Amino acid sequence: MTRRSLVVGNWKMDLSHKAEVEIVRSLKELFKGVTLEQTDVVVCPSFPSLAAVADGLKKNQKIAVGAQTVYWEEHGPVTGMVSVSQISPFVDWCLVGHSEQRAITGETDEQVAARAGLLVRHGITPVVCLGENAEEREADQSVDKVTKQMKVLIGALTRAAIAKIVIAYEPIWAISANNPGELPEGDEVAGMAVLIRKVAAGRFGSEAAEKLRVIYGGSVNEGNVDQYIEEPGIDGVLPGGASLQPRQFMEIVKKVEAAA
Ligand code: PEP
Repeated sequence: MTRRSLVVGNWKMDLSHKAEVEIVRSLKELFKGVTLEQTDVVVCPSFPSLAAVADGLKKNQKIAVGAQTVYWEEHGPVTGMVSVSQISPFVDWCLVGHSEQRAITGETDEQVAARAGLLVRHGITPVVCLGENAEEREADQSVDKVTKQMKVLIGALTRAAIAKIVIAYEPIWAISANNPGELPEGDEVAGMAVLIRKVAAGRFGSEAAEKLRVIYGGSVNEGNVDQYIEEPGIDGVLPGGASLQPRQFMEIVKKVEAAA
């Protein structure tokens, strides 16, 4: 089966509101020359910029908008959090379970799964981030960690939801903010994509699991993206730092589209 390719730019909390709006202008200009047939492209600004970025990109058919997280309940007395109905006018995508969110808020696998289920019910595609940290990698526990995260996630989803979610395998040690000394090889990430679909197949069968999109995140740039997207089981990438540079982001997108 053919899965569409995907590039998700995570802007984190790196830019001012003004800079986020300015990036949109550059992206619109740069992407005029890019033809996309097989690739979905998403940028994930900060919450306060969602409306402005969505407005800036509304006539642009090539770049969609995503949020960086969402709360797992529909509404309530939850000061400081943001609900699905508050992001839904602006986004079609949403990151969940990013390792920085997990670390800061103590988000559990169960809460990540609840967020993903809620987003699917609201027609927003969750991009669920998972992966091991440096100590777990060192202790040879990467497979166990990813298997557990996947089992909790799919335990909370329906078979139909598998085609409506994306898994971003993001080994925490490979994220640029963690100053990685090395990055995983393409075949290592491809092995994780096999594992991720195997866990999904264990619950819903291999036909459903084949529909599951799996992308890689961790210090992706235009110089290293090829080794990941050349692997047949990897459907795209999630660049953080590199997505803040519009030209570099465009080059990554062009490479992903060319490999699709
Ligand atoms: C991220 O944190 O989602 C990420 C992949 O960042 P970077 O590309 O900068 O490692």
